[in-house]
Amino acid sequence: NITEDDHLVLLTTCTSDMTNGRNILVGRLTDQIYPEKEKAKNVGTGIDELKNAVGKVPVIVWFILIVLVLILIARQIEKKRNKKKGKKEEEKKAEEDKTLVMATNAEFPPYEYYEGEEVVGIDVDIAKAVAEELGMELKIEDMAFDSVIPAVSSGKADIALAGLTVTDERKENLNFTDTYAKATQVIIVKEDSAIAGPDDLEGKKIGVQLGTTGDLYASDIKDAEVEQYNKGFEAVQATMQGKIDAVIIDSEPAKEFVAEAEGLKILDEAFTEEEYAIGIAKDNDELLEKVNKALKSLKESGKLDEIVAEYIKADAE
Ligand code: GLN
Repeated sequence: NITEDDHLVLLTTCTSDMTNGRNILVGRLTDQIYPEKEKAKNVGTGIDELKNAVGKVPVIVWFILIVLVLILIARQIEKKRNKKKGKKEEEKKAEEDKTLVMATNAEFPPYEYYEGEEVVGIDVDIAKAVAEELGMELKIEDMAFDSVIPAVSSGKADIALAGLTVTDERKENLNFTDTYAKATQVIIVKEDSAIAGPDDLEGKKIGVQLGTTGDLYASDIKDAEVEQYNKGFEAVQATMQGKIDAVIIDSEPAKEFVAEAEGLKILDEAFTEEEYAIGIAKDNDELLEKVNKALKSLKESGKLDEIVAEYIKADAE
């Protein structure tokens, strides 16, 4: 009768070149120690049996197994990648949601103009204040004036702030917020010009900024020859040089341009009365509502007047 202790002694005395003998021996011993055959097998010959079983599996099964494992791994990698991509897109969208893009034409002092590298002015400060109310970051996109409305209606920009006059025609392409400023279209001529009012513009050479309301009115004047410039100031310079007879342009920039030029004056008789508002894409009612709310609070708090007074010193409205 062999006890468990004997079993251990025998096991520990087995040397490596006796491995086979040991297996048989251990098999027998464990048969005696553990009456259940399965247990004995596990101790002595389990590994060999596994090896045998593995050897019997057909190659095709191995092949299928490997392919399955590879597919699983590939799917896992793809999943991870998609998750990362989704996260990046989410981050990008969150970033966009936080940015308020303003389309403008920074050739329109005191509403928007360059001070060094920076675009500043009444519209810029209004946009900044609105963005702040909305918890967003303002980004300014400077472009040609006639690109400002398309930029907003196509969704490239969120708001158009460009001393933009509300007109019925423009309302077909975008929505306007409540108005925030009044303006007039005025006529700039040389100091010694015979032109004294709108009626004298018939048959004259008139300079305008392309796509502005001034451009629109000029084209309605009988026999007038309309010169369209990219910048309002270029039209003013052309008048100064005698290349054209007059400029039709918004009142505030007119004052700034005439102050910078020499020998020019603004006629007392204004051309039209108009109002500026912020342009927003037709389908973006949510933003329209938010911006209107922000504008309202800027008006009520006196912040809007403050901004205007900072840029229009002499006759702040
Ligand atoms: N108020 C004018 C318009 O809307 C001019 C604006 C501008 O030149 N920025 O057409």
